[in-house]
Amino acid sequence: MADKEQTTDLQEKPFKPSSPSSKLDLNGFWEYADAPQSADFIELADQYELFIDGKFTKPASGNYFDTINPATEKPIAKIAEADEKDINKAVKAARKAYENTWSKISARERGKYIFRLARLIQERAREFAIIESMDGGKPIRESRDVDIPLAAAHFFYYAGWADKLNYAFPNKEVESLGVAGQIIPWNFPLLMLAWKIAPALATGNTVVLKPAETTSLTALKFAELCRDAGLPDGVVNIVTGAGETGAAIVNHDGIDKIAFTGSTEVGKIIMKSLAGSEKKYTLELGGKGPNIIFEDAPVDQAVEGIINAIFFNQGHVCCAGSRLLVQEGIANRVIQKLRDRMETLIVGDPLDKNTDIGAINSKQQFEKINEYLEIGVNEGADIHQSSCSIPENGYFCRPTLFTNVGQSNRIVKEEIFGPVLTIQTFRTAEEGIEKANNTPYGLAGGVWTDKGSKIFKTGQKIRSGVVWSNTYNQFDPTSPFGGYKESGMGREGGLHGLEPYVKLK
Ligand code: ADP
Repeated sequence: MADKEQTTDLQEKPFKPSSPSSKLDLNGFWEYADAPQSADFIELADQYELFIDGKFTKPASGNYFDTINPATEKPIAKIAEADEKDINKAVKAARKAYENTWSKISARERGKYIFRLARLIQERAREFAIIESMDGGKPIRESRDVDIPLAAAHFFYYAGWADKLNYAFPNKEVESLGVAGQIIPWNFPLLMLAWKIAPALATGNTVVLKPAETTSLTALKFAELCRDAGLPDGVVNIVTGAGETGAAIVNHDGIDKIAFTGSTEVGKIIMKSLAGSEKKYTLELGGKGPNIIFEDAPVDQAVEGIINAIFFNQGHVCCAGSRLLVQEGIANRVIQKLRDRMETLIVGDPLDKNTDIGAINSKQQFEKINEYLEIGVNEGADIHQSSCSIPENGYFCRPTLFTNVGQSNRIVKEEIFGPVLTIQTFRTAEEGIEKANNTPYGLAGGVWTDKGSKIFKTGQKIRSGVVWSNTYNQFDPTSPFGGYKESGMGREGGLHGLEPYVKLK
């Protein structure tokens, strides 16, 4: 079939959006009233230091940078910038803690500390959720119902493994590695911290972790929890800063393992730096997830799934279903339903409990998404945006669909990391699978069909670490996650997530 997709019927019936001024206008009957989450009880300092050897410590350079609320563009606090000297100090503290305490205490004792961290996250869950939304722009509903509970669940899950490693790796001797250097992105700040720190501690390693520069606050609040939990000094060190700070961790000789989640671009730089070194590493990188809808799929359910796959967390999800592949016979129906559903999505204040799509995480990411919108239009694709109102200040982006696109379009090939969906059609299952796999990425995908056999056949043929069927974006600590091809190497989560942190003999 032609590479450019057919949307003729739609062009004959132009879409009529509802009133642009209404926040949510369900057939003119109803608007949602504001439902703000109170942030009055949140205590934030004006300035945050590095957390090294159990103490909050000023950075050697004396430099600080602002962390901004992307919904208001206003600074929230100053964050210390760690340089090589600080990283050196943090690695030394982690090594000392590893040798003197963490590798000496019993596995059961280690497990108790990790359980304690899990419970402390639960106790302060609402506070963490609010800070996550203020610092990162994600809707409170998501940080409250997804990020923070899942972060606690990861600590609970790996706490359970701490004294059972011999069952995880039967007939092997299990040894920890030493000091793990961990670098995480801004899309799920506390959750990514949990994915990294929980398995590292459970396997007996100590850590130096760097959060992303736009979302350091929950990692620094987590440092407070480490202190409250009485975790021995130096077992967890949190160092803040941008790319150079990350590079100083990657290149430090005293580190035994690097765990990185972020862009494929930076992942490649890290791989080059690590080539020839003894360090173990896992990389979880970008994605361009195909979401395949067959003609026999339950359409309304699939439409909800598509919305969840790409607009969840503003599309700031490496496993987002950003490429919709829909079988030709139902394409127009699916697109029309999607556009209708998009009209009902509320874009706005992340701290409002009705908000579906919050703020884009940073100015830089906001500009990148807008650039891609322009690229898409210049490439000749048809753009469809929801007509909802968006706040005047802050970095907000309307949910966007592109139709009339082909495999060669940049918006189809490249990761946008925003609420932007491209839609292509296919006729046969083979064509759908071929299009799904025609990408350098392979992190996640989705299949929607009524037939179990089709799920298995298609799922097996999609080259992705995860394939969801008749659902999307489901996470659980027991389930491994990771990519093929340029989406990375190694697995996090589940039993598989223990392996990168141990030596087996
Ligand atoms: P994203 O597109 O998700 O922001 P990045 O790869 O730019 O992904 O950032 C992910 C993490 O990697 C952040 O914590 C960032 O500060 C860090 N980082 C950026 N550049 C480098 C680098 N050269 N070496 C190590 N870490 C880096």
